[in-house]
Amino acid sequence: MRIKKGDNVKILTGKDSGKSGKVVKVYNSTGKLVVEGLNLYKKHVRAKTQNEKGEIVDVPRPINASNVLIICPSCHKAARIGMKTSGEKKERFCRKCQAVL
Ligand SMILES: [Zn+2]
Repeated sequence: MRIKKGDNVKILTGKDSGKSGKVVKVYNSTGKLVVEGLNLYKKHVRAKTQNEKGEIVDVPRPINASNVLIICPSCHKAARIGMKTSGEKKERFCRKCQAVL
């Protein structure tokens, strides 16, 4: 998984295609992520008791990581991210400006 929580990404598919936002949750096991305030879908919540009202809430739907691009903090472009190893650790870098993210 090359995308981490806190990254700014641009969505490439779905109803918010072309919009960008901050990653608030990453599901490493499924390779999906949630972007703050984007890819929201209406969900009907049924009343649990008689006094409660059922309501419609916006629920963020996870997006496949392959359907987003990271916005490079250095060149501010939506870029593909490469990986390189420097010493012991792996680093992510922007393929457009080569900056380490
Ligand atoms: Zn860059």
